[in-house]
Amino acid sequence: MQSLSIIGFGTFGQFIAPYLVPHFHVFAWSRSNYESQALSLHVHWSALDEALQKEIIILCTNISFFEDFLKAHSHAVNPHAIVVDVASVKLKPVELMLKYLPATCEIVGTHPLFGPQSGKNGIEGLNFVVCPVRTSKMDCIVRFASEQLKLNVLLRTAEEHDKEMAYVQGLTHFIARALSAMDVKEFEMKTRAYERLLDVKNFLGGDSWELFTSIENDNPFAIHIREQFKVELQNLEQKLTGN
Ligand code: NAP
Repeated sequence: MQSLSIIGFGTFGQFIAPYLVPHFHVFAWSRSNYESQALSLHVHWSALDEALQKEIIILCTNISFFEDFLKAHSHAVNPHAIVVDVASVKLKPVELMLKYLPATCEIVGTHPLFGPQSGKNGIEGLNFVVCPVRTSKMDCIVRFASEQLKLNVLLRTAEEHDKEMAYVQGLTHFIARALSAMDVKEFEMKTRAYERLLDVKNFLGGDSWELFTSIENDNPFAIHIREQFKVELQNLEQKLTGN
């Protein structure tokens, strides 16, 4: 079995661990101490230097911490490791991994389009975006994700990913936050469309502020989609009121 470490054992790190444990010797490190959670998930809690020596390293920290982390610790990374990130944007982490990781490391950007909420009944069939950056093991990675984890693998460049995600996440999470702030409610007389609107609010409106700001601010295309949306809202209002 290959050794794999999860760097950053927050929500997503802990969520994904059980899917990896049957296939790898899984180790984890995080800024905070999650040793008991790691033990209950059959994950070895380890020191950072040890975790960075594994054959596969999955970076599960917030993107805001990426640059400082890579700057401080890249020298300790196993030079033959496959380093994978899971961030919800792709251009920025890929650029930082290329900039700071040893030139001999393999680098793969990924974006699992699921989390504890959408994956609460399992992850089979869910979308998993893979951006090959610098790797000779693409076939193995895609085979593992599709055959072992049964994910629907979508191969994209980091730019293609961020352009689509500016709509899929940037626009949707923006609307969800506004719906949450308005506190739109459940009504007995609801329509299917209104149920969907409530779903948007309930699924996304409660995500952490850090995840929200990353989706909106770390994706260079998101601001244009938000601007377009706000212009169209104003156009509609003008048409309705004649002002
Ligand atoms: P989270 O629960 O807030 O966890 C964030 C992780 O980053 C924690 O391990 C935290 O460490 C670490 N971290 C944050 N700031 C840090 C700092 N200044 N120094 C050191 N460590 C720091 O967020 P998450 O949902 O797991 O998201 C982690 C990554 O997964 C993000 O890139 C996100 O885009 C991606 N992702 C999340 C989901 C999801 O549904 N949650 C889905 C797909 C992808 P400590 O907890 O040890 O302090």
